[in-house]
Amino acid sequence: MKKFLIVFLVFIIGIGCVACKKKDDISDLSKDLSNYEIVLDLDTTTFSAQANLTLDYINSSADELSELKFHLYPQFFKENATDLVVSSTKLNDAYPNGLDYSMFEVGRVQVGGQDVAVEYAGEYSDILVVDLINILLPSERAQIYIEFSFSLPNCEHRFGYGENTINLANFYPIVCVYENGSFDESGYSPNGDPFYSELANYSVIVNMDSKDLILAGTGEKTNTRKSDGKYQTSFSAKLVRDFALVASDKFEIVSKRAGDVKVEYYYFSDENANEHLQAGVDAISTFSSLFGDYPYSTFSIVKTDFIYGGMEYPNLVMISADIESSVDYKNVIIHETAHQWWYAMVGNDEYTYPWLDEALTEYSTILFYDFNSDYDLTHSQIVDASKSNYTLFVSVYQDVLGDLDTSMRAVDEYDSEPEYTYCTYVKGVLMYESLYQLIGKDDFLSGLKIYFQENKYSNATPNDLINSFEKVCGSDLENFFSSWVNGKVVIR
Ligand SMILES: [Zn+2]
Repeated sequence: MKKFLIVFLVFIIGIGCVACKKKDDISDLSKDLSNYEIVLDLDTTTFSAQANLTLDYINSSADELSELKFHLYPQFFKENATDLVVSSTKLNDAYPNGLDYSMFEVGRVQVGGQDVAVEYAGEYSDILVVDLINILLPSERAQIYIEFSFSLPNCEHRFGYGENTINLANFYPIVCVYENGSFDESGYSPNGDPFYSELANYSVIVNMDSKDLILAGTGEKTNTRKSDGKYQTSFSAKLVRDFALVASDKFEIVSKRAGDVKVEYYYFSDENANEHLQAGVDAISTFSSLFGDYPYSTFSIVKTDFIYGGMEYPNLVMISADIESSVDYKNVIIHETAHQWWYAMVGNDEYTYPWLDEALTEYSTILFYDFNSDYDLTHSQIVDASKSNYTLFVSVYQDVLGDLDTSMRAVDEYDSEPEYTYCTYVKGVLMYESLYQLIGKDDFLSGLKIYFQENKYSNATPNDLINSFEKVCGSDLENFFSSWVNGKVVIR
């Protein structure tokens, strides 16, 4: 009876939202963004691709630009940078068949149809510098064309392939965020998701040599057909900060609607497929009610050969095939779905402030269980486990290291993966639980609604988050957050 009442309540809240306000108009919001058009010819026998990007870039800054800079993340999967891709303790898991490396090359680069030099920056040539030939004034657009080719490593990561899936994320040149007079050229780290990007629109055509390959991707699948002897699948995605694909000839798909969102689950060998799909549907519904609508038409949950639990991209999440228990699997689906709000819609610099999206996503996962009592985890169970795990971590590490830095810092400032995980996720949960107890459930949820409403479709900073909570509770929370983030809080 209790279960029924809670489900019914969520249902009523969901219907109420649809009836009282319209969803955001993506076409309208996406008009003044840059447009990425990518054509990718994928060779599944060599796990390699020839590709080109046509970018219609808009200078949305107030500065005049003479050049553009792009991240080339595949450069980090080459031989000389492996220690930045995974920590040494994870090498065997990431490369089950032995170390393997990518190839990545940039071919022709043109600006406005005119050839320009291919210029690199960054320690690993991980930044492509493109001379715009003419000064680009604020609000003006430039047309950039980049040919590139790559091979994927046999690596169970974002950019790589495993036994079951080909993971094509972070595979194309993406413009570095321009702020405070320069482009953000942050590199890579085995900790966290070292990315930072702006919203844009994507139109992607994938040509494949195999008719059996099924693709999951960001946005709507607009077309699957045979063209010039190749099997072609196209995607269109608007108002998203990245584009990712997963391909497999083993995929089966189950699908269900969460309101007007089509939720799809791409999987291989899963006897609980419908239950796992339902976790995604429940997560989309719950977080839409709690924080604000998910305005996109699709959401894909994709079982993937992936070294960590899961990974978020706009409209698409990767869930690791290595997760053994269904409770853990659903927990990861819920966590990655919460990232659609914290990372995908409310963006942030994940390299410098990984806690800003990760801690909130982890705590949102806990909030999910408050509204879905038919799941096997509860709010207090997770908070209690987080507290005992965190205190154990601190005592063990303090014994080993003497002085332990527990501040929540940039991904490259952690000495080890456990430090990153405990300081960002586990301590993050304790920080939000403390705030929840301090200001109360109603103000806490109102603060998150404000944070979402005021920062969606942009990049937020820690101050934006603090201001949102301060608005509802009327108290100064600067000291509260700084003592947690800077590592001054002692947890017993
Ligand atoms: Zn996460």
